[in-house]
Amino acid sequence: MNATQMATAPKQPVRDIVDYELLFDCVHCGLCLEACPTYVATRKEMDSPRGRIYLMKSLAEGRLELEPDVVRHLDLCLECRGCETACPSGVRYGRLIEKARFYIAAHYPRSKAEHLLRWVISSLFPHPTRLRPLLWPIKAVETLGLRSVVEQILPGKLGGWLSLLPPLVQTNHTEHQPWPTARQTIDGPTVTVHQGCVAQLFFSRTNQNAARLLKAAGYRVVPMARTPCCGALDWHLAYVEKAKRFARANIREIQRIQADVIVSTGSGCSAAIAEYGELLHDDPHFRDQAQAISGKVRDLSSLLLEARLSFPKFPCTVTYHDSCHLTHVLGVREAPRKLLRSIPGLRLVEMKDSDLCCGSAGSYNLLEPEMARELVRRKVDNILATGADYVVQSNPGCELHIAAELRRRRAKTQVIHLADFLALAMDAQTGARSELSVSAQ
Ligand code: SF4
Ligand code: SF4
Repeated sequence: MNATQMATAPKQPVRDIVDYELLFDCVHCGLCLEACPTYVATRKEMDSPRGRIYLMKSLAEGRLELEPDVVRHLDLCLECRGCETACPSGVRYGRLIEKARFYIAAHYPRSKAEHLLRWVISSLFPHPTRLRPLLWPIKAVETLGLRSVVEQILPGKLGGWLSLLPPLVQTNHTEHQPWPTARQTIDGPTVTVHQGCVAQLFFSRTNQNAARLLKAAGYRVVPMARTPCCGALDWHLAYVEKAKRFARANIREIQRIQADVIVSTGSGCSAAIAEYGELLHDDPHFRDQAQAISGKVRDLSSLLLEARLSFPKFPCTVTYHDSCHLTHVLGVREAPRKLLRSIPGLRLVEMKDSDLCCGSAGSYNLLEPEMARELVRRKVDNILATGADYVVQSNPGCELHIAAELRRRRAKTQVIHLADFLALAMDAQTGARSELSVSAQ
């Protein structure tokens, strides 16, 4: 701490709500404000990164108590980390808000309904074996053509949750054909595709396509025998011990299969694994292994670009949505765009605010449906203004959330994961018809 900071530091002990010294990196310039989706939506200072940092500092210094208003402004943060990439002073906002949330979880008396909601999310979504049986009645209702009716009559947030799910009844399963442009396996690093938790159920095709593309690019792909949840969902809900258990399970499995590189089709999962070193920094048995695993995370688009995978002609107009954690945590912006531009006949049109969060943000759209809906409305306005046939993105959560809004508007534009889009372009040369919509397995 420098002299100015010492002079402004409080006399009483600082409460352990955040890494206090990190707060002083913020110079209050406000350059992050327009990069913050909640500030853009509400125009309230306390819904901005600068305002939230002020709240955290006031809490830490005992000038403010954990009152409902304060918690509300902090709860409304998406942890999208758009403010981090916008900040010229290198403020580690993600670390600040994460610790503040742990503090809130330990000290703020939430209502029983809020506790229950968080417990349900944590007990169901990271566990495919628990979630899968719950989809059977939804499939039955959908087969009877009654799904939209059920969405209207379900109480509380349940109807909104159901509307986020894609159609579950699928037809037209296509056998994969070999791609003529596929390479011989290169004697390079082995890659594993982390299957995600919810993604195991709804995006198994996306995971398969990611593996097909990596193989076509010449990588040796090794499967995980069992993919535990990456832990991100519990981490962001401040169930940190549970998140650590998931992290350790992943580390053990990745070490067992001896993968050199870890890819996930969920950018939130990639970012979480890339931060295992931080999550387990105080675990003497796993600290070093966690650091090593974090260093193995790579992004699918970067690997395909490096391997110079070539694509056949696929004429269409595409816009690209930057998934938050791929952009703001892993720092990947250009690789997916370069890949798309390498497809002959494809026209890439940039949308306004492509890197502003769509409102999905892990379990945010389940916990904060109003703000999530407002943000996805803005996102889809920007998508439709491009006139694109496809909006390509790199995260299943974004896909579900944007697809639900496109369905509500009966829009023709199709939202599609980058892995599925590239597979679609490759399949076009073999005459195979890729399955585009997601389906529960
Ligand atoms: S977080 Fe960074 S960009 Fe935002 S006000 Fe502070 S110093 Fe400025
Ligand atoms: S993480 Fe996202 S929502 Fe939260 S303050 Fe930063 S930009 Fe705003």
